[in-house]
Amino acid sequence: MQATIFDIRDKLALVTGSSRGLGNALARGLAESGAHVVLHGRDLAGVQEEARAIAQETGARVEAVSFDVTDASATRDAIEALMAEHGVPDILVNNAGLQRRAPFNEYATDDWDALVATNLSSLFYVSRTLTPAMSERGSGKIVNIGSVQSKLARETIAPYSATKGGVVLLTQGMAADLARFNIQVNCISPGYFKTEMNTALWQDPTFNEWVEKRTPAKRWGHVDELVGTLVYLCSDASNFVSGQNIFVDGGMTSVV
Ligand code: NDP
Repeated sequence: MQATIFDIRDKLALVTGSSRGLGNALARGLAESGAHVVLHGRDLAGVQEEARAIAQETGARVEAVSFDVTDASATRDAIEALMAEHGVPDILVNNAGLQRRAPFNEYATDDWDALVATNLSSLFYVSRTLTPAMSERGSGKIVNIGSVQSKLARETIAPYSATKGGVVLLTQGMAADLARFNIQVNCISPGYFKTEMNTALWQDPTFNEWVEKRTPAKRWGHVDELVGTLVYLCSDASNFVSGQNIFVDGGMTSVV
């Protein structure tokens, strides 16, 4: 493979929440581009099995780590152990996330707390453990995963929208602090993709039809359609791009 400005070969990339879903597709995409990928989830045996499968399919080096991103000290311990073994990641993708739906009047406090911890606080815990070492080295690429709900609300998911809106402003704030260390921090905000998280939505014919009508592309996204934007944001091609949020949503957030 000839080197291009999109070259990420041998870059060490930690993708949180990559045991399945979008994170898994993103990690696979990085592995296919030659990155040295660290797969992550809470079930170590499951993550190890998936890591072996991706390594076999892509020929890339794939590691497996497991920690709960809502536990700040477990996160720090696991990432420090990872850095001791493999060095400081070049790329961090903050993807792990959670959805819980209920009408606002019935929304439980525990669910609010779990969403804020998983979708927002965890980005701080994971990133803050890595960025001092990235800063010292003088390079790093951080990509946070937002959502169309970073911009648009929808009934029954006000807390999710609040966390995903927060992800965009956290991205901008991190960019403000970290650009001087040659660390670029950006956000990818996906539209609707069929994963385990939104099984209830794509199995509901009415919702399915709504997504197809509401999206200018007239369809759900395919998970591998996120990879090109990710590779761009992880490569030298984006070295002067920071604090941005790119919607990969078939045009959904551009129209009413
Ligand atoms: P999935 O439910 O399919 O996967 C979630 C991933 O996050 C799993 O790998 C899970 O690992 C991990 N995770 C969840 N909570 C924790 C935790 N406390 N500690 C460690 N890992 C955790 O979700 P999706 O793939 O659909 O979503 C991934 C991201 O994309 C989320 O941030 C979501 O908000 C966002 N997104 C998804 C869209 C979609 O259409 N699917 C649209 C827009 C945004 P484990 O194996 O441990 O459960």
